Amino acid sequence: MSNQTISLEGIDNVDDFVLENEEEEDSISRTHLHQLVTKANKAFRQNRFEEAISCYSRAINIKPHHPIILGNRCAAYLRIYQFLVHRPPSDSEYRPLSGLDPTIHAGLALKDADKLINLQSDSVKAHILKADALILLQRFELAHDVVLSGLHINPSSTHLQNLARMTSTTVGRNNHEITIRSDDFDCTVCLKLIYEPVTTPCGHSFCRSCLFQAMDRCNRCPLCRTILFISPKTCSISVTLNNIIQKNFPEEYAERKLEHENLTIMGADLLPLFVMDVVLPFQKLQLNIFEPRYRLMVRRIMEGNRRMGMVTIDSTSGSVADHACEVEITDCEALPDGRFFLEVEGRRRCHIIENWDQDGYRVAEIEWIQDICPAEGTEERLDLQDTIQKAEAYAKSWMRTAQEAAQGDQVRLAQLHKAEELMPTTNDPEHFSFWLATLTNRRPSERLDLLRMRDTIERLKRGLIYLKAEEQFCRVQ
Ligand SMILES: [Zn+2]
Ligand SMILES: [Zn+2]
Repeated sequence: MSNQTISLEGIDNVDDFVLENEEEEDSISRTHLHQLVTKANKAFRQNRFEEAISCYSRAINIKPHHPIILGNRCAAYLRIYQFLVHRPPSDSEYRPLSGLDPTIHAGLALKDADKLINLQSDSVKAHILKADALILLQRFELAHDVVLSGLHINPSSTHLQNLARMTSTTVGRNNHEITIRSDDFDCTVCLKLIYEPVTTPCGHSFCRSCLFQAMDRCNRCPLCRTILFISPKTCSISVTLNNIIQKNFPEEYAERKLEHENLTIMGADLLPLFVMDVVLPFQKLQLNIFEPRYRLMVRRIMEGNRRMGMVTIDSTSGSVADHACEVEITDCEALPDGRFFLEVEGRRRCHIIENWDQDGYRVAEIEWIQDICPAEGTEERLDLQDTIQKAEAYAKSWMRTAQEAAQGDQVRLAQLHKAEELMPTTNDPEHFSFWLATLTNRRPSERLDLLRMRDTIERLKRGLIYLKAEEQFCRVQ
């Protein structure tokens, strides 16, 4: 029986997400989960299965054992298999898919279906999905057994009856069953197939990320407690072991890789957050990372795009502020004791739509913001040009006065010279306005205001007020 002619059952639609009233979860992550699954379901119903899978996977990272999310992702894997097998070859010239081989999708569907059966052994849907996946993998005999167990739960299920008819005709033709693997290749920290294996001097192997996450808390082997003198920087992956795993368990390996990538390469609208202080675009600073949760975050960022959001706690609300600045890690030094010494530089501003906890640190869904630039020829545009020229002239004279006043104070003088060197051109009004407003030291609440503003003129005027106030203050003294 060719896979082209197989019709699967029970995957035309997905289930809507139901919010359970679980007290231990905070409502923010619950709402976020709900939105993720709703987005995924919408993508599924519009046949955008890759997008659906990516959203379901993000939801599963937050809540790993939710039957509806697992079942829906499983259905999406099955649908993408069918989609890939059925689409004409010419399509790939227009829209190549980044995705995996169809068989791997079927294998991933099987994994989800298995998890679902472990969670709900009496679920008819779980049996249908598992049978579907087994059929795509051409394991008809096993599929037939699963269908029969499903029929014990609900003999009148039409889906199961159809599957029973289909599998009974093929049983006996195909005895080539893949053997189930033992747990010899499991990591004892995460209990999953080892991903990027690292072998310690005491001879134990773990996922690279699991080992160093355990070592954030204490530098001993998680299994035998031997003290270890290794660091992520110097420690390499066991190539042979990695090859063996990849060759023997391609589906599971692909799933582990996906899981890992979901943590290191976040979507364009997701940002891990370092909660400390307000950072402004173009600002440079140095950070010393010692908390275990942030060490984990930095390792993941360094494997991804080297960017994170810096944000403060808003003193008025007591929670993470509504605006953050994306910083790029321009230099990262891993110290022998596991700490990181970072140099970062502020890049873009963003508005935080919501944020939730992931492995101890905050992750936010964000939208990028920038100043609203008035159109060429408008009165606002002329006003902006006028304001920035005045601001530039004032800043230059302020700088001269400040340097004269600082004669004899070498530290202050060096600061002023540095600031003068960094003065941007007035062709980039937004950049100039941030430079101007931070010539004097500003309180966190003032910097947060500057971050939130989207009107360049307003920020320029604010900067001028700050400079004049300081000049006044100096004269009084
Ligand atoms: Zn592991
Ligand atoms: Zn050990």
